[in-house]
Amino acid sequence: MTLLDGKALATKLKEEIRREAAGLPRRPGLAVVLVGEDPASRVYVTSKRKDCENCGFYSEEYDLLAQTPQSALLELVEGLNERADIDGILVQLPLPGHMDEQAVIQAISPEKDVDGFHPMNAGNLLIGRESFLPCTPAGVMELLDEYHIDPAGKRAVVVGRSNIVGKPMGLLLLRRDATVTLCHSKTPDLPEMCRQADILISAVGRRNLITADMVKEGATVVDVAMNRDESGKLCGDVDFPAVAERAAFLTPVPGGVGPMTRAILMKNTLLAAKKRQNLC
Ligand code: NAP
Repeated sequence: MTLLDGKALATKLKEEIRREAAGLPRRPGLAVVLVGEDPASRVYVTSKRKDCENCGFYSEEYDLLAQTPQSALLELVEGLNERADIDGILVQLPLPGHMDEQAVIQAISPEKDVDGFHPMNAGNLLIGRESFLPCTPAGVMELLDEYHIDPAGKRAVVVGRSNIVGKPMGLLLLRRDATVTLCHSKTPDLPEMCRQADILISAVGRRNLITADMVKEGATVVDVAMNRDESGKLCGDVDFPAVAERAAFLTPVPGGVGPMTRAILMKNTLLAAKKRQNLC
């Protein structure tokens, strides 16, 4: 079994991004907005700031109280849309319950939507036009490419159908000529579906959901999930030691998809900066 080393690839990508950013007339700028005090979101926001520093980007962080009215958040986003020095705007999800996530996502200018969640970017992905790609599925595709795993003609099964991971993951695999099945909580006989996969992607958030008997011998298995075990250690959906005996390629958690997601955010921000400076 070969480990799909997302950490190593992400480091390489960020180094390339840093070099390219240094050659731009104006450095890329990313604004990250956090509403409330979700500890996991706080960790993500901090790591995004560090990634910006490492890539030589300008970054701004906005910490809003959980009870901030939606109108105030929309006003902040409008202001960031107008700023010449800000190329990417990321509002960390999930938002507090009183906010309408879709309304907030739609307020972000599609040209600055480096998360790729705006309906304009999601729609362009659907119809096969250029767009900002959601960071996690795009990171998985780069990881597959790095290890020369060509989806064309393969049977790909994606477990999970969220707008940010499962659905765009399926579309990206389809774009690359895989035959794609999306599974979800109402899928009957998930094990049988998974056993058919040459490429199996799990994005659910349930520890040990994917067991060795659900994996075809020699399959590529990508574990997107981030769960905690009883001792608080980060783990994915895949029963790693058992699946490692059957899979040909497997992502570790941590060190697989997570670092790739972060690297693609930097890549998208660089792309936004280049577009806004008419360099591509
Ligand atoms: P989500 O919105 O909660 O979606 C989970 C999906 O899993 C849903 O489509 C759900 O089906 C499906 N599901 C739930 N139980 C299932 C079961 N027993 N069998 C089959 N499908 C089942 O989650 P998400 O935002 O896509 O994230 C998924 C996981 O990836 C989480 O662990 C999250 O932390 C992780 N994640 C990691 C990264 C990274 O960078 N590594 C980035 C984003 C997310 P229904 O639609 O029928 O409810």
